[in-house]
Amino acid sequence: EAFVARVAAAKSLNAFLVETPDHAFAAADAADKARAAGETLKPLAGVPIGMKDLFCTKGVASTAASHILEGFVPPYESRVSQNLWDAGAGMLGKLNMDQFAMGSSNETSAFGNVISPWRRSDGGASGKNWAPLTPGGSSGGSSAAIAARLCPAATGTDTGGSIRQPAAFTGIAGIKPTYGRCSRWGVVAFASSLDQAGPMARDVRDCAIMLEAMAGFDPRDATSLDLDVPKWEAGLSGDLKGKKIGIPKEYRVENMPAEIEALWQQGIAWAKDAGAEIVEVSLPHTRYALPAYYIIAPAEASSNLARYDGVRYGLRDLPDGANLQEMYAATRAAGFGDEVKRRIMIGTYVLSAGYYDAYFTQASKVRTLIARDFEAAWESCDVLLTPTAPSAAFALGEKSADPIAMYLNDVFTVPSSLAGLPAMSVPGGLDAAGLPLGLQIIGKPLDEQSVLNAGL
Ligand code: GLN
Repeated sequence: EAFVARVAAAKSLNAFLVETPDHAFAAADAADKARAAGETLKPLAGVPIGMKDLFCTKGVASTAASHILEGFVPPYESRVSQNLWDAGAGMLGKLNMDQFAMGSSNETSAFGNVISPWRRSDGGASGKNWAPLTPGGSSGGSSAAIAARLCPAATGTDTGGSIRQPAAFTGIAGIKPTYGRCSRWGVVAFASSLDQAGPMARDVRDCAIMLEAMAGFDPRDATSLDLDVPKWEAGLSGDLKGKKIGIPKEYRVENMPAEIEALWQQGIAWAKDAGAEIVEVSLPHTRYALPAYYIIAPAEASSNLARYDGVRYGLRDLPDGANLQEMYAATRAAGFGDEVKRRIMIGTYVLSAGYYDAYFTQASKVRTLIARDFEAAWESCDVLLTPTAPSAAFALGEKSADPIAMYLNDVFTVPSSLAGLPAMSVPGGLDAAGLPLGLQIIGKPLDEQSVLNAGL
């Protein structure tokens, strides 16, 4: 009841697109009944969570924050959300996000941006900058809702940083597991070779509990890993004695703000206090990760988004006398937002005859080099520690007219996405303006446990 009331009272944040209090109450009732009957409670019995709107939820509108999916009510449940309901959780509602998960600020949502519950304490450099801040993106509804205590945990998805960067911007924790840990079945596709679901919550332990419920093999997703889900929560330990933490020197990018460098040094000091040994490592192809990502992700997106044709899902724009081709064009023109159209155009361009080898093939080769960089680094360390983002949360509107400035925000998160590695953002304290900063921990394939332990 407390969470449902908070969701209803916090509409000004625009974090929820749909509220589903009945779903949450049903889970709570089931937990009460089980408790009264003396049954063993399920791991998430009665816990009300938020669901990013990229997940298809049976009988509940699922739009990926795009007009083109308006009116689409899935007749099926995504595997990850079903896993959460099977673990006893209930849904408070569907969370706002960047349209089709494309964005780093939540401003590409067709239903208005989310507002971070955080404010600068100093009014900004001019002393007058009390402008509302972005909660990060694309999982910005999830991060804002958790930070504002509208829900104790939420789902996110991460293609190039969309769990980690919003977690960093709002002072919460979020983990993207190894590619293939969580089923993509029933998750609206953005870039299929990169998309991974993961939990966002107030701390590392809650993330571990959520991830255990979300993960698991699913034969309906061809890239799902057929492995048992480890007992991550039971395995949590903050003792890092004997562990080696790598500091990749190439992440010390040009013009890195002083507070980000200070955050990193603080993280290193915490790791030493917990007994870890710090080693410098090199990931030489890091600077090519961002351009490679912004070729591969749009290429896959342009293919995935071909399915929105006005026939199969949601919106149809059928001008008088239009033929099929004109109906496709009208629907897609009206239904997709500007950023989505930009990605489709970049994607079709880099995949087109004559440019395919120069862009897509080249980016795929870079992707392999980046994965090899990480493999080499694992010979000298167990996890890597970096900042999550190159700045604290920026003001809404500050970067929305400049796509390159927006893309640069993903500089620390995309390399591990390209390599399919588990990576987490944990709260790293506040900057001088009182805004949260996040530390990123990147782990070996399938070694979420070491990532969680270092995060703890
Ligand atoms: N900001 C990145 C992009 O716009 C990552 C998004 C994501 O991880 N879904 O592509």
